[in-house]
Amino acid sequence: MKIIEIPKDLAINGADPAFDQPLHVGRPNIGSREDFLKYAGEIFDRRWLSNNGPMVQEFEQRVANYHNVKHCIAMCNGTVALEIAIRALGLEGEVIIPSYTFIATAHALHWQAITPVFADIDPVTHTLDPEAVCRMITLRTTGIIGVHLWGRGSPVEALQEIADEHGLKLMFDAAHAFGCSHKGTMIGNFGVCEVLSFHATKFFNTFEGGAVLTNNDELAETMRLMRNFGFSGMDNVIHPGTNGKMIEVAAAMGLVNLDAIDNVIEANYRNYQIYQKELSNLPGISLLTFDESEHNNYQYVVMEVAGDCVVTRDQIIEALHAENILARKYFWPGCHNMKPYSELYPHAGLMLENTRQVAGRVVVLPTGTTQNKGMIRVVVQVIRVLCGLHSGAKKAIDL
Ligand SMILES: *Cc1c(COP(=O)(O)O)cnc(C)c1O
Repeated sequence: MKIIEIPKDLAINGADPAFDQPLHVGRPNIGSREDFLKYAGEIFDRRWLSNNGPMVQEFEQRVANYHNVKHCIAMCNGTVALEIAIRALGLEGEVIIPSYTFIATAHALHWQAITPVFADIDPVTHTLDPEAVCRMITLRTTGIIGVHLWGRGSPVEALQEIADEHGLKLMFDAAHAFGCSHKGTMIGNFGVCEVLSFHATKFFNTFEGGAVLTNNDELAETMRLMRNFGFSGMDNVIHPGTNGKMIEVAAAMGLVNLDAIDNVIEANYRNYQIYQKELSNLPGISLLTFDESEHNNYQYVVMEVAGDCVVTRDQIIEALHAENILARKYFWPGCHNMKPYSELYPHAGLMLENTRQVAGRVVVLPTGTTQNKGMIRVVVQVIRVLCGLHSGAKKAIDL
C-alpha cells in the first residue's frame, strides 16, 4: 500500500521522471559516454578485443596506482578473481570466512572443494570478529578470507596476528572496498592479496569485471598465468589455468569510470549526509557511519532497524517497495542458510548469533549518481511517515 504521493516533478539528471523507473540499490554509475565510444572505436580499429590488450594494461596500471599497490591483475569478474587467488595461494581443507557476505565468497571455496567455515561477525562493524575466527580454527584450516563489508576495513591487524600464529594464509574479499583505506593505507595492501569486483552494481564498474591486488611479485606472476590458461608465450602452457581474462571493452569502461570516480564519491557522500541528517532522530533507526579520516566510497547506505523500533525491518522494506523504491535486505539470511550450505552444515547457525541479528535488521538504501537530493528526501519521508503512522504520534514527527 502506498503511503505518500511522490511529487511528479522529481527528476533524475534533469531528464527521466524520477519514479518511472524503480529506485534500485546499485544503479550503475557510468562515466563519460563520449569517451567510452571513442575508446570503443579505437578497440575496433586495432581489432585487439581481448588477451591482455593495451586498454587492460593501462587499466591495471591505473588501478594499481590508485590503490598504491604493486600489482593489479584484472579479471573477467570478482568471483573468478577470488577463485584464482584462492588457488594461487594453495588454500585447501577449510578456510574461515564470514557468513554475512555475498554468496560468492563461499562459492569460490566450495567450487574448488574447499570447505567454507563460517565465523561470526562483530555486531557493530559487521566484519569478522577475530575471537570468533579463533574458535573456528581446526587442524584442517589453511586460510582466512576477511571481507571489507560496505567498504569498511576488516580488523586486518588482529586477523594477521591470528594467521601468523597459526600458520594460515590471509586474504581479503575487497569487492566493496574500491578506493577505500584502512588506518591510512589503501585497500589492496593487506593480507597476501585482496580481490576487487567491478560488477555493474558496485561503486566502480567495468560492466562485469574484477581484479586481484597484491604486492607479491611471484603471486602476481602465477595469477597472470592462471587467468590465461597457463600460457607462457604463444604455444607453451606451463601452469594449470582457466579463462579469467578481462576484455578490452570492459577495460575501456574502467578507464572512463576512473575519470569519473571523484564525482561518484561526491554524490554518494552527499546522499549519505542527507540520509544521516534526516534519519538521525527516529527512535530505533540508525545509519552505519564511516570514519571520515579514511578514504571511503560511501557506496552503501546501511540502515539498521532495532528490535524496539515501532516498525519492523520488513515493514519498512515493504513500504518502500510499494513506492517503487527498491531498498534491499542484504546478505539475508546469511550464506550458511542458503541451500548449498544449510544442507552441508545444518548447525552452523549455532555459532552465528550476531550474523542472524545483523542480517535481520539491515536495509540498504538507494544512492549513487542517479539519485538527486529530492529523491533521497522522498525515501527518507516514506520511512518517517511509516514510523509516525505506527507510533500513533504522527504529529510528533516533523515532516
Ligand atoms: C559482488 C561481490 C562478489 C562477486 O563479484 P562479481 O564481480 O559479481 O563476481 C564477491 N564478494 C562480495 C562481497 C561481493 O559483494
